[in-house]
Amino acid sequence: MKTTAVFPGSFDPFTLGHQAIVEKALLLFDELAIAVGVNAGKQSLFTVDERVQSIKDVFKGDARVRVEPYEGLTVDYCKKAGATHMVRGLRTVADFEQERLMAQANKLMLPSVETVFLLASPEQTFISSTVVRDVLKSGGDASNFLPEIKP
Ligand code: ADP
Repeated sequence: MKTTAVFPGSFDPFTLGHQAIVEKALLLFDELAIAVGVNAGKQSLFTVDERVQSIKDVFKGDARVRVEPYEGLTVDYCKKAGATHMVRGLRTVADFEQERLMAQANKLMLPSVETVFLLASPEQTFISSTVVRDVLKSGGDASNFLPEIKP
């Protein structure tokens, strides 16, 4: 059976931590849909189009990866994408508690999709989009936190 995992998130912006989760997921699943959430109630630094395009630039040439925006429930996107799994990253115990709630609620709404958690590499545990946004807003250089764009 072909496996299709959805990696949903805000990705505001997509960091080295997110990239590492994608790379680990590609070792487990046949294809991966990176789903960029549009959350009208949440003020984002980058527009959804900017976030989608920058992630596409990171994985261009890799036919196993697609990047799409989505609005509404993640389980509805998963149905549309033909997902067999959902992937989320874990850094801390705090992540785990929040992710557990979401995964269990999603499982109830869409039992056919199992959520798989992938552990952050120790050297990337501190990387978050929030830190990157703070650095960028203060005019700092965030390149150590961000993936390289393929030429
Ligand atoms: P959301 O708003 O849905 O939490 P994020 O873009 O902040 O979206 O995160 C998407 C997923 O990536 C979450 O599962 C989060 O735990 C995971 N993640 C974020 N940063 C890292 C990191 N440095 N290492 C591993 N996983 C991460």
